[in-house]
This record gives sequence, structure tokens and C-alpha cells, in this order.
Amino acid sequence: MRNLLYGFILIALVITNTTFANASEVTVYSARQEHLIKPLFDKFTSETGIEVRYITGKAGALFQRIAAEGKNTKADVLMTVDAGNLWNAAEKGIFQEVSSQKLNDNVPANLRDADGRWYGLSVRARPIVYSTERVKPSELSTYAALTDEKWKDRICLRTSKKIYNQSLVAMLIKQNGKEKTGEIIKGWVDNLAVAPLSSDTKVIEAISAGSCDVGIVNTYYLGRILKKDTDFPVSVFWPNQDEDGVHVNISGAGVTKYAKNKDNAVKLLEWLTSEKAQTDIADNNLEYPVLKETPYSSVITKWGDFKGNDINVAWLGELQTEAIILMNKYDYK
Ligand code: FE
Repeated sequence: MRNLLYGFILIALVITNTTFANASEVTVYSARQEHLIKPLFDKFTSETGIEVRYITGKAGALFQRIAAEGKNTKADVLMTVDAGNLWNAAEKGIFQEVSSQKLNDNVPANLRDADGRWYGLSVRARPIVYSTERVKPSELSTYAALTDEKWKDRICLRTSKKIYNQSLVAMLIKQNGKEKTGEIIKGWVDNLAVAPLSSDTKVIEAISAGSCDVGIVNTYYLGRILKKDTDFPVSVFWPNQDEDGVHVNISGAGVTKYAKNKDNAVKLLEWLTSEKAQTDIADNNLEYPVLKETPYSSVITKWGDFKGNDINVAWLGELQTEAIILMNKYDYK
């Protein structure tokens, strides 16, 4: 009788355990959209047999949810865009430290957290874009040079409320200090053709419509337009190539502090940085791979290669508050 009782207890323990850690699944909370992640997860599952469950939502809402769920969270991985967001999540204690030789080999050191709490999975460059009808590339050089009088009433920018621009300004602060960066922001604002716009796509469209001649956007937004219209009259100029390089940011992910499927979570991150997955990411999202030697999508090869700024992208989070204060100070709305 007693043996039978022990037997039941043992079976109960095994069942309880499997509801917490399942050898064949991993759960992702993703601020990246379903159409970008699902094809990758499907491939991962067919190669490894590990099922990927996921929910998608806004980064802020997912952070709050994971924090509120605490130890009971189902999230093993949090995936989002912008190093500023990843840095914030790490500060809030959402991630745990992961050490993986594969991740360290595949992801350049400046595109991951020094403590292994998050890793870049794709690179997003934020260069200058220009009207191919009204601007010659030889007229362009650096972000700072957009403060020149010749650009008066010719610049379009996205709102400073978007983290992409906060991260860009954070990089400028790290590179040039607050005073010089303040001058750059002031110069941009003085040269604006129209009030700051709500999206990168609107900046690109305003340039093609003739409302302005230059802007600063993430390249994949232009890539999406060029995929449908190869003659679209806006192109990319890589700024700061003789200096510190173009501003680069990442999409990325980390393993949550209370992950029930940590091993599978690490396997998923490692797989996402493999050559096969990186090629897919570059192709589908029109972003740049983190893994060296991975080919770019043919849609964007005409922009050529670039030198990216190589500060650790954690600085984009570290200096975010300073960036917001500075943009407010110089009336960048
Ligand atoms: Fe975006």
C-alpha cells in the first residue's frame, strides 16, 4: 500500500514537473510581428522538434506582463527591437545571464550585453536618405553636416518620441559629448522643412513627394518600398564613414529570469544566429545580419556595404534619458 502511495506521488511529481518544463517546447513573448517571426520558428521546429509557442504585443506591455507574472511567467524568451528596449528590460530584471560560446562567436561583442542578458539577432542601420532627384550623394557627409545652412527647410525627421531617434541621439552623445550633440540637434531642428513626422515611412514619402530633400530613417522601411517600386526616387547615403560610422541598432532577445525551458530558449537564440536563420532574417525583414559573411537581401545590395558605429549598443539604453532631455531642450518635438 505504502509503495503504491509512493508510486502515485512519484507519478504526480513527474506530471507536475512536465507542466513546468517541457523537453520539447519554448515560449516566446515577442514585440516583433508574427509575419516576421513565424516562418523562422516553423523552421526551428522542423529542424529541432522543439515547439515554439509565442504571443506578440508592444514591448512595454510585454515587459509589464512578464514582470507581473513573476515566477509564473510562461515566457522563456523576450524578443524585441531596439537596444534601448533590451537594456531597459535587463535593468528591470526581466532577463537572466546566459553564457553560450555559439552566441558569443556569432554575435559581435558590441551587439550584445556584456553579461549575456540579451543578444542582437539583426542589425538595423539608421543612415541619411535623400531625394535622388534633388540631392547628389557628394553633397552629404555626416549627421552633423545636416546642420549646414544649405539644408535649411530641406530636412524631414521622425518625432523624437520614437525610441529609434532617442537611440540615435544617445549614440551621438556617446561619440561627441552633450554640448556638441546639442548643437547638432539644434541645427537639425532649424533646418526642418515640416514638423517632425510620426513614422520613418512618412519621412521617406515626404522626400519622394518633394516636401523635403533629406531625412534619417531605418533602411528596411525604404527596402520595403523599393521591393514594390524599384524606381522609387529615394536612396541611402551612409554617413560618418570617415569617422565613427553610421548609427546601428539591433533587434534582439534574451532568456527570461524565470524561464522554465532555459535550454530550449538558449537553443532557439543560438539557432537564430546561425547562417541559415540569419540569411532568412536578412531576406524577409530587409535588415542586416549580425553574423558576419551572411549575404544581404538582393533588394538592398545596391546600397553597398557600410561601416557601422561600433560602440556597445547598451549605451543606447544607458544614455536614453540624457538623449530625451537634450531633444526637449532644443525643441526637437
Ligand atoms: Fe521599425
